[in-house]
Amino acid sequence: MAESLPAPKPLEPEGVYLCPVCRHGQIAPMVLMETYACNFCRHILSLDTTRQTARLEDTAMIFRWQWTGTTWRSLNTPPVTLTYTAIVLGVLLMTLPPLLIWLGQQIFPPLSGDRWQWFPLFWVGLTFLAHAVLVLRIFAGLVPLRPLLGGDRRR
Ligand SMILES: [Zn+2]
Repeated sequence: MAESLPAPKPLEPEGVYLCPVCRHGQIAPMVLMETYACNFCRHILSLDTTRQTARLEDTAMIFRWQWTGTTWRSLNTPPVTLTYTAIVLGVLLMTLPPLLIWLGQQIFPPLSGDRWQWFPLFWVGLTFLAHAVLVLRIFAGLVPLRPLLGGDRRR
């Protein structure tokens, strides 16, 4: 059974939340201030509870995050989606390195009767597997998991 996700809760003025900057410490209200501070990275943030957003206040650059109910989503970069270009690049990254090794094995075949004759093809398969894991791991970060896990069926 998969571990259940924490229940979504709205951003509240007195709440303690994970820091959107370092994602390690917790932000809590500062005494006598309308701002919040992280207990790990010491950044100062302001929260907009009506828009459910946080804004970094101790820098000249504008950094904002949207509270999703369980975690922060950056508003500074557009959401990354799985495009056809990314899929083509992923397929090339999975197939080109094993193809190069296979080509080397075809051009310079191992000596017949050698007990390591199986190794080049094993290496081709291992290279494909390693690159496939790498590409699928990157794509897994781009695809939202909630619809796949059936998290929205309740609505
Ligand atoms: Zn922090």
